[in-house]
Amino acid sequence: MKTITILVPAYNEEEVLEQMYHVLVDVCNQLTNYHFEFLFVNDGSKDRTLEIVKQLKEKDERVQYVDLSRNFGKEVAMSAGFDYASGDAMIIMDADLQHPPEAIEEMLYWWEQGYDDVYAIRRKREGESKLKKWTSKTYYKLLQKVSKEEIIPDAGDFRLLDKKCIEALSQLREHSRYTKGMYNWIGFKKKEITFDADPRAGGETKWKFGSLVTLAINGVTSYSTLPLKVWSLVGMIISLLGFIYLFIEIMRTIFFGNTVAGYPSLIAGVLFLGGIQLISLGVIGEYLGRVFVETKDRPLYFVQETSEEKRQKKEAATSNEKEKE
Ligand code: UDP
Ligand code: MG
Repeated sequence: MKTITILVPAYNEEEVLEQMYHVLVDVCNQLTNYHFEFLFVNDGSKDRTLEIVKQLKEKDERVQYVDLSRNFGKEVAMSAGFDYASGDAMIIMDADLQHPPEAIEEMLYWWEQGYDDVYAIRRKREGESKLKKWTSKTYYKLLQKVSKEEIIPDAGDFRLLDKKCIEALSQLREHSRYTKGMYNWIGFKKKEITFDADPRAGGETKWKFGSLVTLAINGVTSYSTLPLKVWSLVGMIISLLGFIYLFIEIMRTIFFGNTVAGYPSLIAGVLFLGGIQLISLGVIGEYLGRVFVETKDRPLYFVQETSEEKRQKKEAATSNEKEKE
Protein backbone atom coordinates (compact mmCIF):
# COMPACT_ATOMS: atom_id res chain seq x y z
CA MET A 1 0.00 0.00 0.00
CA LYS A 2 1.29 3.44 -0.90
CA THR A 3 1.93 5.96 1.83
CA ILE A 4 0.80 9.55 1.43
CA THR A 5 2.30 12.22 3.69
CA ILE A 6 0.04 15.15 4.45
CA LEU A 7 2.33 18.02 5.37
CA VAL A 8 0.84 20.77 7.51
CA PRO A 9 3.07 23.69 8.53
CA ALA A 10 1.50 25.28 11.59
CA TYR A 11 2.30 28.48 13.41
CA ASN A 12 0.00 29.50 16.28
CA GLU A 13 -2.91 27.49 14.95
CA GLU A 14 -4.48 26.29 18.22
CA GLU A 15 -7.89 27.61 17.19
CA VAL A 16 -8.23 25.56 14.02
CA LEU A 17 -5.78 22.67 14.23
CA GLU A 18 -8.09 20.13 15.84
CA GLN A 19 -10.97 20.98 13.53
CA MET A 20 -8.61 20.76 10.57
CA TYR A 21 -7.39 17.33 11.69
CA HIS A 22 -10.93 15.99 11.95
CA VAL A 23 -11.99 17.25 8.52
CA LEU A 24 -8.78 15.82 7.09
CA VAL A 25 -9.18 12.42 8.74
CA ASP A 26 -12.80 12.17 7.57
CA VAL A 27 -11.63 12.55 3.99
CA CYS A 28 -8.59 10.30 4.33
CA ASN A 29 -10.49 7.46 5.99
CA GLN A 30 -12.61 7.16 2.86
CA LEU A 31 -9.53 6.61 0.70
CA THR A 32 -8.90 3.08 1.89
CA ASN A 33 -6.34 2.25 -0.80
CA TYR A 34 -3.71 4.42 0.83
CA HIS A 35 -1.89 4.64 4.07
CA PHE A 36 -1.71 8.20 5.37
CA GLU A 37 0.84 10.00 7.47
CA PHE A 38 -0.06 13.38 8.95
CA LEU A 39 3.14 15.35 9.39
CA PHE A 40 2.76 18.56 11.34
CA VAL A 41 5.66 20.98 11.37
CA ASN A 42 5.34 23.22 14.38
CA ASP A 43 7.02 26.43 13.30
CA GLY A 44 7.91 27.77 16.73
CA SER A 45 4.33 28.40 17.83
CA LYS A 46 3.85 30.34 21.03
CA ASP A 47 0.45 28.83 21.76
CA ARG A 48 -0.78 25.27 22.38
CA THR A 49 -0.24 24.07 18.79
CA LEU A 50 2.41 21.48 19.72
CA GLU A 51 0.38 20.24 22.68
CA ILE A 52 -2.62 19.68 20.43
CA VAL A 53 -0.50 17.79 17.91
CA LYS A 54 0.86 15.56 20.68
CA GLN A 55 -2.65 14.88 21.92
CA LEU A 56 -3.69 13.91 18.40
CA LYS A 57 -0.68 11.62 18.16
CA GLU A 58 -1.70 9.74 21.29
CA LYS A 59 -5.00 8.79 19.68
CA ASP A 60 -3.77 8.39 16.12
CA GLU A 61 -0.39 6.86 15.40
CA ARG A 62 -0.46 8.20 11.84
CA VAL A 63 0.22 11.66 13.29
CA GLN A 64 3.88 12.71 13.22
CA TYR A 65 5.46 15.99 14.09
CA VAL A 66 8.62 18.03 13.76
CA ASP A 67 9.00 20.83 16.27
CA LEU A 68 11.33 23.59 15.05
CA SER A 69 13.45 25.46 17.56
CA ARG A 70 11.88 28.82 16.68
CA ASN A 71 9.66 30.47 14.10
CA PHE A 72 11.47 30.16 10.77
CA GLY A 73 8.57 31.09 8.49
CA LYS A 74 6.35 28.93 6.33
CA GLU A 75 8.87 28.44 3.52
CA VAL A 76 11.48 26.93 5.84
CA ALA A 77 8.84 24.98 7.80
CA MET A 78 7.86 23.31 4.54
CA SER A 79 11.47 22.47 3.76
CA ALA A 80 11.69 20.71 7.13
CA GLY A 81 8.62 18.79 6.03
CA PHE A 82 10.38 17.77 2.81
CA ASP A 83 13.27 16.38 4.85
CA TYR A 84 11.15 14.39 7.27
CA ALA A 85 8.40 13.06 5.02
CA SER A 86 8.45 9.33 4.43
CA GLY A 87 5.56 8.88 1.98
CA ASP A 88 5.57 7.94 -1.68
CA ALA A 89 3.90 11.25 -2.28
CA MET A 90 3.23 14.34 -0.23
CA ILE A 91 0.32 16.73 -0.11
CA ILE A 92 0.99 20.15 1.40
CA MET A 93 -1.92 21.84 3.15
CA ASP A 94 -2.46 24.93 5.27
CA ALA A 95 -3.65 24.40 8.82
CA ASP A 96 -6.52 26.87 8.50
CA LEU A 97 -8.73 24.77 6.20
CA GLN A 98 -8.29 27.23 3.34
CA HIS A 99 -7.21 24.20 1.36
CA PRO A 100 -10.19 21.84 1.16
CA PRO A 101 -9.17 18.22 1.89
CA GLU A 102 -11.88 17.16 -0.56
CA ALA A 103 -9.40 17.89 -3.36
CA ILE A 104 -7.06 15.12 -2.13
CA GLU A 105 -8.94 12.42 -4.01
CA GLU A 106 -8.59 14.25 -7.33
CA MET A 107 -4.90 14.87 -6.69
CA LEU A 108 -4.32 11.18 -6.01
CA TYR A 109 -6.22 10.29 -9.16
CA TRP A 110 -3.85 12.35 -11.33
CA TRP A 111 -0.83 11.09 -9.44
CA GLU A 112 -1.85 7.53 -10.29
CA GLN A 113 -2.09 8.67 -13.93
CA GLY A 114 1.63 9.43 -13.81
CA TYR A 115 1.79 13.11 -12.87
CA ASP A 116 4.46 14.12 -10.37
CA ASP A 117 3.22 17.55 -9.31
CA VAL A 118 -0.54 18.06 -9.12
CA TYR A 119 -1.15 21.63 -8.08
CA ALA A 120 -4.43 23.25 -7.19
CA ILE A 121 -5.33 26.68 -8.53
CA ARG A 122 -7.63 28.97 -6.59
CA ARG A 123 -10.81 29.64 -8.53
CA LYS A 124 -12.01 32.28 -6.10
CA ARG A 125 -10.52 33.69 -2.95
CA GLU A 126 -12.99 34.26 -0.22
CA GLY A 127 -12.33 36.16 2.95
CA GLU A 128 -9.42 38.11 1.52
CA SER A 129 -9.41 41.85 1.16
CA LYS A 130 -9.66 43.48 -2.28
CA LEU A 131 -6.23 45.01 -1.71
CA LYS A 132 -4.60 41.62 -1.05
CA LYS A 133 -6.20 40.15 -4.17
CA TRP A 134 -5.12 43.11 -6.29
CA THR A 135 -1.52 43.23 -5.03
CA SER A 136 -1.20 39.48 -5.50
CA LYS A 137 -2.53 39.66 -9.08
CA THR A 138 -0.30 42.57 -10.10
CA TYR A 139 2.70 41.01 -8.42
CA TYR A 140 2.41 37.75 -10.36
CA LYS A 141 1.99 39.62 -13.63
CA LEU A 142 5.14 41.60 -12.90
CA LEU A 143 7.09 38.56 -11.72
CA GLN A 144 6.22 36.69 -14.89
CA LYS A 145 7.55 39.59 -16.96
CA VAL A 146 10.95 39.70 -15.27
CA SER A 147 11.48 35.99 -14.79
CA LYS A 148 12.45 33.32 -17.29
CA GLU A 149 10.84 30.60 -15.20
CA GLU A 150 7.13 30.14 -15.62
CA ILE A 151 5.36 31.05 -12.41
CA ILE A 152 1.73 30.10 -12.28
CA PRO A 153 -0.40 32.75 -10.57
CA ASP A 154 -2.81 31.55 -7.89
CA ALA A 155 -1.04 28.21 -7.66
CA GLY A 156 -0.02 28.14 -4.05
CA ASP A 157 1.51 25.47 -1.90
CA PHE A 158 -1.60 23.31 -2.03
CA ARG A 159 -0.33 20.46 -4.15
CA LEU A 160 0.63 16.84 -4.37
CA LEU A 161 4.30 16.11 -4.94
CA ASP A 162 5.77 12.79 -5.92
CA LYS A 163 8.74 11.45 -3.96
CA LYS A 164 11.00 12.50 -6.85
CA CYS A 165 9.93 16.13 -6.44
CA ILE A 166 10.36 16.06 -2.67
CA GLU A 167 13.87 14.71 -3.01
CA ALA A 168 14.66 17.40 -5.57
CA LEU A 169 13.19 20.15 -3.41
CA SER A 170 15.06 19.09 -0.30
CA GLN A 171 18.31 19.53 -2.21
CA LEU A 172 17.55 23.21 -2.72
CA ARG A 173 18.94 24.63 0.51
CA GLU A 174 18.85 28.36 -0.20
CA HIS A 175 17.81 30.65 2.62
CA SER A 176 15.90 33.28 0.68
CA ARG A 177 13.25 30.78 -0.21
CA TYR A 178 10.51 31.22 -2.72
CA THR A 179 9.06 27.75 -2.87
CA LYS A 180 6.42 28.66 -5.46
CA GLY A 181 9.21 29.30 -7.96
CA MET A 182 11.09 26.15 -6.93
CA TYR A 183 8.20 23.86 -7.86
CA ASN A 184 8.56 25.01 -11.43
CA TRP A 185 12.33 25.12 -11.41
CA ILE A 186 12.68 21.43 -10.53
CA GLY A 187 10.46 20.46 -13.45
CA PHE A 188 8.73 17.03 -13.62
CA LYS A 189 5.27 16.30 -14.99
CA LYS A 190 2.71 18.83 -13.83
CA LYS A 191 -1.06 18.76 -13.73
CA GLU A 192 -3.40 21.58 -12.82
CA ILE A 193 -6.65 21.22 -10.92
CA THR A 194 -8.87 23.92 -9.39
CA PHE A 195 -10.39 24.53 -5.98
CA ASP A 196 -12.27 27.27 -4.17
CA ALA A 197 -10.33 28.88 -1.36
CA ASP A 198 -12.52 29.25 1.71
CA PRO A 199 -12.03 31.91 4.34
CA ARG A 200 -9.83 30.93 7.25
CA ALA A 201 -11.66 28.54 9.60
CA GLY A 202 -10.44 30.48 12.63
CA GLY A 203 -7.64 32.62 13.98
CA GLU A 204 -5.79 35.32 12.09
CA THR A 205 -3.55 35.17 9.07
CA LYS A 206 -0.02 34.34 10.17
CA TRP A 207 1.61 36.39 7.47
CA LYS A 208 2.65 39.81 8.57
CA PHE A 209 2.73 42.49 5.88
CA GLY A 210 6.52 42.70 6.26
CA SER A 211 7.08 39.01 5.63
CA LEU A 212 4.84 39.14 2.57
CA VAL A 213 7.01 41.98 1.20
CA THR A 214 10.16 39.94 1.92
CA LEU A 215 8.64 36.93 0.16
CA ALA A 216 7.70 39.11 -2.80
CA ILE A 217 11.24 40.51 -3.09
CA ASN A 218 12.66 36.98 -2.74
CA GLY A 219 10.43 35.96 -5.61
CA VAL A 220 11.99 38.55 -7.88
CA THR A 221 15.62 38.29 -6.76
CA SER A 222 15.66 34.48 -6.77
CA TYR A 223 14.46 34.18 -10.30
CA SER A 224 15.69 37.24 -12.13
CA THR A 225 18.72 39.45 -12.41
CA LEU A 226 16.76 42.02 -14.41
CA PRO A 227 16.61 44.49 -11.48
CA LEU A 228 20.42 44.55 -11.56
CA LYS A 229 20.63 45.08 -15.30
CA VAL A 230 17.90 47.69 -15.56
CA TRP A 231 19.97 50.24 -13.66
CA SER A 232 22.87 50.24 -16.06
CA LEU A 233 20.40 51.01 -18.83
CA VAL A 234 18.73 53.79 -16.84
CA GLY A 235 22.18 55.16 -15.99
CA MET A 236 23.21 55.22 -19.65
CA ILE A 237 20.05 56.99 -20.77
CA ILE A 238 20.41 59.62 -18.07
CA SER A 239 24.08 60.20 -18.86
CA LEU A 240 23.17 60.63 -22.52
CA LEU A 241 20.45 63.14 -21.69
CA GLY A 242 22.92 64.94 -19.41
CA PHE A 243 25.47 65.07 -22.20
CA ILE A 244 22.94 66.51 -24.67
CA TYR A 245 21.93 69.10 -22.12
CA LEU A 246 25.58 70.02 -21.55
CA PHE A 247 26.06 70.46 -25.30
CA ILE A 248 23.01 72.75 -25.50
CA GLU A 249 24.30 74.82 -22.57
CA ILE A 250 27.75 75.21 -24.18
CA MET A 251 26.19 76.34 -27.44
CA ARG A 252 23.98 78.80 -25.59
CA THR A 253 26.94 80.29 -23.73
CA ILE A 254 28.93 80.65 -26.94
CA PHE A 255 26.18 82.32 -28.91
CA PHE A 256 24.21 84.20 -26.23
CA GLY A 257 26.83 84.84 -23.55
CA ASN A 258 27.03 83.63 -19.99
CA THR A 259 23.87 83.81 -17.86
CA VAL A 260 23.67 83.24 -14.12
CA ALA A 261 20.49 81.28 -14.61
CA GLY A 262 20.65 77.53 -14.50
CA TYR A 263 20.63 76.98 -10.78
CA PRO A 264 17.20 75.23 -10.83
CA SER A 265 18.19 72.86 -13.59
CA LEU A 266 21.48 72.19 -11.82
CA ILE A 267 19.91 71.28 -8.52
CA ALA A 268 17.21 69.24 -10.29
CA GLY A 269 19.86 67.25 -12.08
CA VAL A 270 21.87 66.65 -8.93
CA LEU A 271 18.86 65.49 -6.95
CA PHE A 272 17.57 63.30 -9.73
CA LEU A 273 20.89 61.59 -10.25
CA GLY A 274 21.34 61.19 -6.50
CA GLY A 275 18.01 59.43 -6.34
CA ILE A 276 18.85 57.09 -9.18
CA GLN A 277 22.16 56.22 -7.57
CA LEU A 278 20.55 55.44 -4.25
CA ILE A 279 17.97 53.20 -5.88
CA SER A 280 20.55 51.29 -7.85
CA LEU A 281 22.72 50.91 -4.77
CA GLY A 282 19.69 49.56 -2.95
CA VAL A 283 19.06 47.02 -5.70
CA ILE A 284 22.66 45.83 -5.55
CA GLY A 285 22.34 45.73 -1.78
CA GLU A 286 19.33 43.41 -2.01
CA TYR A 287 21.32 40.92 -4.03
CA LEU A 288 24.49 41.33 -2.02
CA GLY A 289 22.56 40.74 1.20
CA ARG A 290 21.30 37.48 -0.19
CA VAL A 291 24.76 36.41 -1.28
CA PHE A 292 25.97 37.21 2.24
CA VAL A 293 23.28 35.08 3.87
CA GLU A 294 23.86 32.17 1.49
CA THR A 295 27.64 32.17 1.93
CA LYS A 296 27.24 31.66 5.66
CA ASP A 297 25.89 28.27 4.65
CA ARG A 298 23.96 27.79 7.85
CA PRO A 299 21.47 24.99 8.26
CA LEU A 300 17.98 26.05 7.25
CA TYR A 301 16.44 25.20 10.61
CA PHE A 302 16.99 23.43 13.90
CA VAL A 303 14.71 20.85 15.39
CA GLN A 304 13.67 20.94 19.03
CA GLU A 305 12.07 17.51 19.03
CA THR A 306 10.45 15.17 16.56
CA SER A 307 8.46 11.99 16.32
CA GLU A 308 10.02 11.20 12.98
CA GLU A 309 13.43 10.12 11.84
CA LYS A 310 14.97 12.13 9.05
CA ARG A 311 14.96 10.11 5.90
CA GLN A 312 17.95 7.74 5.93
CA LYS A 313 18.53 8.01 2.24
CA LYS A 314 18.97 11.72 2.36
CA GLU A 315 21.46 11.55 5.19
CA ALA A 316 23.44 9.07 3.11
CA ALA A 317 23.25 11.32 0.08
CA THR A 318 24.64 14.31 1.96
CA SER A 319 27.48 12.32 3.51
CA ASN A 320 28.41 11.07 0.01
CA GLU A 321 28.63 14.65 -1.11
CA LYS A 322 30.90 15.47 1.81
CA GLU A 323 33.18 12.59 0.89
CA LYS A 324 33.48 13.85 -2.66
CA GLU A 325 34.61 17.21 -1.36
N1 UDP B 1 2.73 29.39 8.72
C1 UDP B 1 3.92 28.89 9.24
N2 UDP B 1 4.89 29.76 9.68
C2 UDP B 1 4.74 31.13 9.59
C3 UDP B 1 3.54 31.62 9.01
C4 UDP B 1 2.57 30.73 8.58
O1 UDP B 1 4.09 27.67 9.34
O2 UDP B 1 5.63 31.85 10.02
C5 UDP B 1 1.67 28.46 8.27
C6 UDP B 1 0.32 28.69 8.89
O3 UDP B 1 0.21 28.05 10.15
C7 UDP B 1 -0.62 28.11 7.86
C8 UDP B 1 0.09 28.40 6.55
O4 UDP B 1 1.46 28.63 6.90
O5 UDP B 1 -0.79 26.72 8.01
C9 UDP B 1 -0.49 29.57 5.81
O6 UDP B 1 -0.55 30.70 6.66
P1 UDP B 1 -1.75 31.72 6.65
O7 UDP B 1 -3.04 30.97 6.51
O8 UDP B 1 -1.62 32.56 7.84
O9 UDP B 1 -1.45 32.54 5.32
P2 UDP B 1 -2.53 33.10 4.27
O10 UDP B 1 -3.47 31.98 3.96
O11 UDP B 1 -3.17 34.23 4.96
O12 UDP B 1 -1.69 33.50 3.09
MG1 MG C 1 -4.55 30.96 5.28
